[in-house]
Order: sequence, then structure tokens, then C-alpha cells
Amino acid sequence: MTFSPDPTPVDVLVVGAGITGIYQLHRALEAGFTAELVEAGDGVGGTWFWNRYPGARFDSESYTYGYLFSRELFDDWEWQEHFAGQPEIERYLNHVVDRFDLRRHMRFAAPVTSAVWDEAPSGWAVTTGDGRVTRARVLVCATGVLSVPYIPDVPGRDSFRGVQHHTGRWPAEPVDMSGKRVAVVGTSSSGVQVVPAVADEAAEVTVYQRSANWCTPLNNRPITAEEQAQLRADFEQLREVLATSVHGFHHPMNPKAAFDDPPDARLAFFERMWASPGFMKFTSNYVDILMNPDANEEWCEFIAGKIRAAVPDPATAELLIPTDHRYGEKRPPYVTGYFEAFNRPNVVLVDLRAEPMVRVTETGIETPASERQHDVIVWATGFDFGTGAMLRMGIVGRDGVALTDHWADGPTTFLGVQTTGFPNLFFPGGPHAAAGNNPRYNGDQVDFVTDVLVHARKVGTEVIEATAEAEERWTAMIDKAAAETPFGTIGQYVGGNIPGKPKRYLLNAGGRPKLHKEIARVKATDYAAFTLTTAP
Ligand SMILES: Cc1cc2nc3c(=O)[nH]c(=O)nc-3n(C[C@H](O)[C@H](O)[C@H](O)COP(=O)(O)OP(=O)(O)OC[C@H]3O[C@@H](n4cnc5c(N)ncnc54)[C@H](O)[C@@H]3O)c2cc1C
Repeated sequence: MTFSPDPTPVDVLVVGAGITGIYQLHRALEAGFTAELVEAGDGVGGTWFWNRYPGARFDSESYTYGYLFSRELFDDWEWQEHFAGQPEIERYLNHVVDRFDLRRHMRFAAPVTSAVWDEAPSGWAVTTGDGRVTRARVLVCATGVLSVPYIPDVPGRDSFRGVQHHTGRWPAEPVDMSGKRVAVVGTSSSGVQVVPAVADEAAEVTVYQRSANWCTPLNNRPITAEEQAQLRADFEQLREVLATSVHGFHHPMNPKAAFDDPPDARLAFFERMWASPGFMKFTSNYVDILMNPDANEEWCEFIAGKIRAAVPDPATAELLIPTDHRYGEKRPPYVTGYFEAFNRPNVVLVDLRAEPMVRVTETGIETPASERQHDVIVWATGFDFGTGAMLRMGIVGRDGVALTDHWADGPTTFLGVQTTGFPNLFFPGGPHAAAGNNPRYNGDQVDFVTDVLVHARKVGTEVIEATAEAEERWTAMIDKAAAETPFGTIGQYVGGNIPGKPKRYLLNAGGRPKLHKEIARVKATDYAAFTLTTAP
């Protein structure tokens, strides 16, 4: 890649200042490219800039989520908790940006509104909401899979006279909840974090639930001084394990199948899982917990028992136990004091299946059964998952084909980083990217994208495009693997919450080993999965 004919273009334009985009900017600069980053928001952090809602925190262990590319960075940042809260994460990402002197390459409040491929001189013309057009040889969309909030189209929402926010667009100024009548709509990963976080302060909290989720304890706690020292001592080992871990977590896999153990040992094991941190209940559970319906049912029964024990009111407890999906068929949330919050007199659960939301009024929310009065509505109603951000950027590729048309039936990708007909466009951390501890997958992709760019430069080519064969192979692998898992057809993993969205699997169903295997194959075949050409 020479990047010579046009005097002004930047080599690499990164979109998005989340954990993926920050790393991509750093890698591109480190590799000797000129690079800039544009971000729609006013600051650094992506998910951790926008999701400032009460209770927002990691479900991944802090030190396995953060960057591992620099021993010095690891040493000079002490995470305070095993699962850090949003303020600490936002501070960390800002620290990284300043430590590696990246801020001067970043432009904020600059949402990309269109990105059009030009054949000659080949590159992208990228227009941002601040009125500027940037020419870039390579466009890297690190725009995230959970960055476009979704609120269902409930009539009357604009008429509400109180305060209302989506969790994914929470304001920087804290929202006053004290003495307020708060509605929390939605009980997935964000809603279940909000409820206990506001229950103390609010006069009442009404939780509007469409479907219950298999919540289990996060089991968070501060990192002790001894643990801090141990983390530092074990850095190389941690990095090595996380470089190959199938799910990107530092959790041991359990080789045992559920019914290898007798009932009393199974019960004791489930108790250990219940007491384990975060995602370990998913990643270190019996090896067949997702695929063997009997094993899954027994684990679900165990969790249901815990919910009944935590919530003495039988009607509320039964509503909190999922009936429409098995464990793992939706992304399981991890909670702190969620079930216990329902024992408080000021927390009420409304079953939207029994009484659907009719409309938002000026003063509250109306269902067929009642009209409840609220001062604050928290919309914890999720995101336009996977493709939401990329399909809203006005991307137009070769021959004037819009990405919205190219992906009309859902995304097709090679390695979750490129799609045919869109030369020099990469999207690490986008659709088909991750399926576990996100930064580890997304980091693999950023490293790969950087390697592809360096290779193209080395062989003197400017235009990089995945071959149709490579894209078909990878997409077929995703679709096949999705069909074989219990998640393949489930709404959350195919963006089923968005009306009219094609139901196509949006994660990397093949998992991280498939990603690593394919990357190795691309390198071993001298990047044959890409067509590399010189600019016309
Ligand atoms: C509440 C919440 C908790 C989570 N917890 C975890 C967790 O514990 N572990 C885990 O692995 N994952 C978690 N995730 C998933 C999380 O999204 C990823 O971990 C990670 O933050 C993704 O980083 P990213 O940089 O790829 O995308 P993001 O962090 O989403 O950043 C994308 C950025 O792109 C910007 N952008 C989008 N479109 C445009 C445009 N047109 N122009 C300019 N800028 C644009 C956005 O404003 C955003 O800042 C969580 C997600 C949420 C919402």
C-alpha cells in the first residue's frame, strides 16, 4: 500500500472511540500509517461513554476486558473491582488515550453521515455531521454492535412530561431519582442492573417486564492488594491464556458432562457455579449445559429454586422465572441484589404479557389494567444489535451499491471484518465478530486488519477486497454453526427485537477458534482470501 496519488487523504480513518476503535487507531499509527478517528459522541469510551445509567458495570472481569498489548499499561492501571463500574471504565479508556497520545488524532461530535467509495483515486469520501469531508484510503468502522439504542414505538412517548432516557444514551449529569416514581422498562442486562441501583433512592420503582431472564449473581468484590500483586506477577500467563481462550475469558473449561456426576455432586457443583464470578456460570459449567436439554433444564430448575428462595412472594417469584427460553438461549445477565429488590415495598413488578403497554401518558404509563404515575422512565429496551450502526452511516461501495442493499437479508462477511463490493472497508467488532469477552475477539480482528494493511503496503497494492469465495465460506460457517447451537434462531442473537429486521445470526457462531484458524489460513496462503490490486 503506497497511499501516494492524492495529496490529502489520510491512510486510515477509524470511526468510533470505543475499546475497538481506540486500539485500531493505536495499531494503525504504530504501523506507520497516517490515521484519524471520528466519533459521534463528545468523548472517549463507546459503550462506556453512552451507558452511564445507575448500576452500569462489567460482566467481564476488569483485567481480562482491558487491553493487554502493553505490560506498562497493565502495570500502571489498578482496577478497583473485579467487575468495574462505568465511571472507572470510562476513566480507564481516557487514560489509555492520553497515555498513548491518541487524543490529537480524534475528532468528537462528528457522526459519519455518509461514506462513499471512489474508484479513482481509490478511497473513501467520508462526510461527518460537523460538516467536514475526509478522504481516507481505508475506512475502519469500529462502530460497535450495541451502539444504536432501540425504544419500541409506544404511542404517546413524546407527551411524557417527566424525565425519560434510554440506558444507552444516559446523560452525563446524574438523573435525580430521590423520592421519584421511577419506571424501568425492560429486564435484560441493563434493566436488571438499574433496578437495585435506584431502589434505595427512589420513592417507588415499577419494573415493566416482557420476559424474564436467567439472572445469576455477578459476585463482584474489590480487588485486594494481594490480588493486585498477583495479577501483576501473572501478567504474561494471563495474556497467554486470554490470547487463545475460546470465549476470551480467563475461566477454566469443565470437561465433565452433567450426568457424569450423581445428583448430589451435581447439586454441589451448581452451588459452586452460583457462587462463582460472572460468566463462569456459562463458561465453566458442565460442558453439555447448553446442548443437552436435560442438563440445561436441571440448571434452570436450580436457578428457579434460588429465585423462589430469594423472593418469598410466590406470584412475584414465578414471574421472575423465565418460561420462554432455556439458559443460554439469551445472553444471561449477571446481577447484584436484583431479586432481593422485589422484597422491598417500593418495588413492583408489572407483567407486560398479562397487561401490555397501551401508551405513555403525560404523567405515566397506561396498561389495560391501570395507569401508573411516573416521574422518570428508564428505557432499558436494548439496541439495534449487530448491524444497527453500520447501516445508518450511508455507506456506498463499488458501483454505487449501498450497504443497506448489500445486507438487505442480513450481513455477509469474511471473518467479520470485510464484505465484498466494499473495498478498503473494515469493521472489527461488527457483525460476526464476537461471542464472548468482546475485547479479546475485537482485538484479534484489529490485529488482523492491521496485518492486512501492512501486507498490502509491503506488496505495493492499494485496494483490498475479500474474495466472494472467502465471504461465502465464512458466512456459510456462521449460518451453519448458528443453526447447530441453541442460540441460532433466538431473537436476541438475530436482532429479533427490531421490527422488520432480517432474522440472521449476528455473532460469531463459530467462536474464537474458527476466527484464529481462518486468520492463520489467510496468512499461510499469502492473503489469498483477498484481492489486492493497485489503484487505477
Ligand atoms: C451496558 C453494556 C454492558 C456491556 N458489558 C460488557 C461486558 O461486560 N463484557 C463484554 O465483553 N462486552 C460487554 N458489552 C458489549 C460492548 O459493547 C463491548 O464490550 C465493547 O464496548 C464494544 O466496543 P466497540 O469499540 O466495538 O464498540 P462501542 O463501544 O459500541 O463503540 C462504538 C462507537 O462508535 C460510535 N459510532 C457509531 N456510529 C457512528 C457514526 N456513524 N459516526 C461516528 N461514530 C459512530 C459510537 O458512538 C460509539 O462510541 C456491553 C454492552 C453494553 C451496552
